[in-house]
Amino acid sequence: MENKILRTIPADIHNHSTLSPDGFDPPMSMAERACGLGIKHFALTDHIETEKFDSWDYAGAVEKSYGTFLEIKERFAGKMEVYYGVELGQPLFDLPLAERLLAEHDYDFVLGSTHRTRTYPYLNQIPDSEEDRRRCLDEYFEEELRLAEWGKFCSLSHLTFPLRFISGDFGGHEVDMSRYSAIIDKILETIISRDIALEVNSSGIRKGLHVTMPSVEYIKRYYDKGGRMVTVGSDAHRVSDVGADIPQVLEMLKDIGFGEICVFRQKQPIFISIQEEKL
Ligand SMILES: [Zn+2]
Ligand SMILES: [Zn+2]
Repeated sequence: MENKILRTIPADIHNHSTLSPDGFDPPMSMAERACGLGIKHFALTDHIETEKFDSWDYAGAVEKSYGTFLEIKERFAGKMEVYYGVELGQPLFDLPLAERLLAEHDYDFVLGSTHRTRTYPYLNQIPDSEEDRRRCLDEYFEEELRLAEWGKFCSLSHLTFPLRFISGDFGGHEVDMSRYSAIIDKILETIISRDIALEVNSSGIRKGLHVTMPSVEYIKRYYDKGGRMVTVGSDAHRVSDVGADIPQVLEMLKDIGFGEICVFRQKQPIFISIQEEKL
């Protein structure tokens, strides 16, 4: 049984299916896996990358996603709560489109994400120089702050995302994060004041960063500032990753002092205890 923490997984509300350009498995397969794992609160949050909306059939996927949500909700009624979710990437790159899509779809749960910066469209292809890495992170945190100030989403997804490509197994570079301390404080204070949750994304653990995004230090900082709304997500893009490392995330949250995580129905938070480990 190696080093696995045995406990139930109350929620995984960040998952992708074939309704995302980079998803591997059909929506129903993702949901079946979640239910099989005993997950009680589940959301598919397929991508909308606003600035690339026409480069793939996002429009078709977005249209299908509501019917898909209803099918999954009905299929698992009484076993698993299912939420109508979306991961909105770079909404500020095409604000009219982002706001139209939000107005036209009655999402329960919206993740706000930054997957690129103004200068660097592909974070896995940042030129190998200290200057570029710094510029990329400078731009990223500025973008995250603007995203938080815009605020039309429920949870700020995977804060520190570029570190997955700059440090860890992929990039291998040390980053002096003290440079970003003040702006990260500002981002955390902004989401707290706007009742936006902080997502603890477990994918960094399995994707070579070996820690959550953001890492424990920033989650503690959020907690110390009074933040109590965290969502948890595996960011699975395939069946085998649903729920991945979430037990470990819950233990970390408990150690920090959190008693609850949240999910969202009609964009309103619902708090779920992480203390009880029954079933
Ligand atoms: Zn993302
Ligand atoms: Zn995602």
